Amino acid sequence: MSEHKDFLRTIVKEDLKSGKYKEVITRFPPEPNGFPHIGHAKSIAINFGIARDYQGRCNLRMDDTNPTTEDIKYVEALKDAVKWLGFEWDQDVRYTSDYFPELYEYAKQLVKMGKAYVDSVNEEEMRLLRGTITEAGTRSKYGERSVEENLDLLERMKKGEFKDGEHVLRAKIDMSAANMKMRDPILYRIKHAHHYRAGDEWAIYPLYDFGHCLSDYIEGVTHSICTLEFENNRDIYDWVLDTLELTPPRPYQHEFARLGINYTVMSKRKLLELVEGNYVNGWDDPRLPTIAGYRRRGYTPESILNFCDTIGVAKANSTVDVSQLEFCIRDDLNAKVPRVMCVLNPLKVTITNYEGSENLIASYYPEDVPKEGTREIPFSSTIYIDREDFSENPPKDYFRLTPQQNVRLKHAYIITCKEVIKDNNGNIVEIKAEYNPDSKSGEDRSGIKVKSAIQWVDAKSAKKVEVRVYDRLYKNEMPEGIEDLNPDSLKIMTDAYIEPAVITQRPDERFQFEREGYFYADPIDYTNEKPVFNKIVGLKDSWAKKTDVKPARGQRSSVEKKPQVDGEVVPMSLEEKALFERYVQELKLNDMVADILARDEKLSSFYEATLFVYNSPVAIANMVANEVARELKDKEVNELKFSATQIAELVKLIDEDTISTKIAKQVFEEMVKDGGNPVEIVQAKGLVQISNPVEINPIIDAVIAQNPDNVAKFKAGNTKLLGFFVGQVLKATGGKANPQVVNELVAKKLQ
Ligand code: ATP
Ligand code: MG
Repeated sequence: MSEHKDFLRTIVKEDLKSGKYKEVITRFPPEPNGFPHIGHAKSIAINFGIARDYQGRCNLRMDDTNPTTEDIKYVEALKDAVKWLGFEWDQDVRYTSDYFPELYEYAKQLVKMGKAYVDSVNEEEMRLLRGTITEAGTRSKYGERSVEENLDLLERMKKGEFKDGEHVLRAKIDMSAANMKMRDPILYRIKHAHHYRAGDEWAIYPLYDFGHCLSDYIEGVTHSICTLEFENNRDIYDWVLDTLELTPPRPYQHEFARLGINYTVMSKRKLLELVEGNYVNGWDDPRLPTIAGYRRRGYTPESILNFCDTIGVAKANSTVDVSQLEFCIRDDLNAKVPRVMCVLNPLKVTITNYEGSENLIASYYPEDVPKEGTREIPFSSTIYIDREDFSENPPKDYFRLTPQQNVRLKHAYIITCKEVIKDNNGNIVEIKAEYNPDSKSGEDRSGIKVKSAIQWVDAKSAKKVEVRVYDRLYKNEMPEGIEDLNPDSLKIMTDAYIEPAVITQRPDERFQFEREGYFYADPIDYTNEKPVFNKIVGLKDSWAKKTDVKPARGQRSSVEKKPQVDGEVVPMSLEEKALFERYVQELKLNDMVADILARDEKLSSFYEATLFVYNSPVAIANMVANEVARELKDKEVNELKFSATQIAELVKLIDEDTISTKIAKQVFEEMVKDGGNPVEIVQAKGLVQISNPVEINPIIDAVIAQNPDNVAKFKAGNTKLLGFFVGQVLKATGGKANPQVVNELVAKKLQ
């Protein structure tokens, strides 16, 4: 258990220690309106993880209060995801819909207390009466209704006597509250719709703000952990529970930052669009960030949990680099899976001086994987190699087979190209080669030096397989919609050949295809007659080189720099390894950052020095592995204009939410150029971050007022314009506004 891991665990630990609760009870409360994605995995890992670490319990609750979008198939997908990640919920799955009768009683109680009323103004009027951030709202005249009248109307709403939208039940709180959410929030609305579970019994449905806190209370939840966008709802959460004067103990809400990953869309609405528009093949398409998709692709639950763990739990939203997730799966499989040979793009090679056939024996595992197992690899005069492993006009540093250059066939012999055979169009169709009988792997007496070993298969005994090669679904780092899809995200190789043991022995379900990457036997389409493999991930981060975008956070360039030999990462020295382990285990750095620091002495010393001044291991590590690393690439520490102490101060400003990470980069650039103290730079340039809606909202209003055409376009469905509005607002604040907050406020205003 990692006790000091995050602020949520700190809260839980203190609450148990102080005796506030006897036992910790958390819940994972998805709405069953789509398949769960990696963001949900993070929430699952947090809620179930905390319950496990503190011997408590975690409920799985379907937050099913919206009859029009929910479905039993999503309930099943959610249950599958939690189980597959290795967690167990307490008792049966819970459903908010099961609490409808109880919630209704609580609503009546509020009415009786004079704390809730039935309002009957239309939507437009309600909006006008709510006021603005700078002006108080006014309660509608229906706020004066008597308790009896309210009870009667509520009962008739429930029975279905009114049309949708005719009345709502509202809490009677404060129409001039600074937090707009507290201006008499709606508790119930009329909806004549069939509920997938509750049937047609109810004509009214509770809203999130009413149903959620009470469901938590009903279940005895202690810590109601949710994402940051609910920060402003916390006041209602507390108001409902306090006003009803419920018997203690009661739950409290705590927020953490939502997970976002670049090159990925995560909202269920957008995922639904991809599935329903057939842009992908169902919810479990291996290119989707759904748990079902990762599972079908071949990701392991361990790798996903490890990813959630290494990115940590933060209080400020940020976007995680997708290569970090890829790193985690690679890291997991590297230590586990058999290595086999598969040729994706076959090119025939005839070995003219070889006669007969033989079986070569080779281990499935490299030496550093503590597993045993060997197989026989048939060899004869006709083999396939990959087309990419032969070149007539090789570029510089091409280490594979050419008319002038020998190559080793992995686990077998060294061959020499003797003749290149082409068809009428000039395409190479076959290579005639000779092998060296003295060069057999393991007993090589040939004295011939080669620069690389390539995969191959014996033509006669190899099995034809289908290989589905997946790439990122989006070509843009911050995808908005369909227009950003990567047209090459799926390549199906129908003419691939694999060595026979993989099919006949089936030593595992996941494999490393030598020099190609990690692959998974498709759990649905695979048959012995027609084996199908999914590419899980490549051997290294090849994407960084493919796109010409500048590495966003320095990390990718560092990965590229990492010494590689033939696709395998160079092992660390003992000292580096010890550092790496300390960074990961003790300081909780993610593997990738730990790797960057541990392998570079200058960086690790700088890191330790900074840590000595200010103890914030993860945040400092990110700064050192990215920003500082860039400066130290071709400088020595004593040539820098800034010191470890100053970097510590800079990180502290981020930790305290005084500046955003984006502004921190700007401050860092100043420090690089002219030296100087970060606190002074922030003050001198007035860079303090603005997160308060009260300050931001008027600016949004102004931007909206100045751009009526774009507002109209947005309302007509051009949602891409959201980015435009956010951009304008950020610009108006000189980049000082908290982008996440602006995003949320703008989205709300434009609704
Ligand atoms: P989406 O907006 O992607 O459709 P949601 O928030 O509507 O997601 P819910 O089913 O309401 O999805 O979420 C269930 C739980 O999972 C909530 O507690 C929510 O805070 C959490 N959750 C959803 N998305 C993320 C994310 N990206 N990162 C962390 N937690 C998330
Ligand atoms: Mg939601």
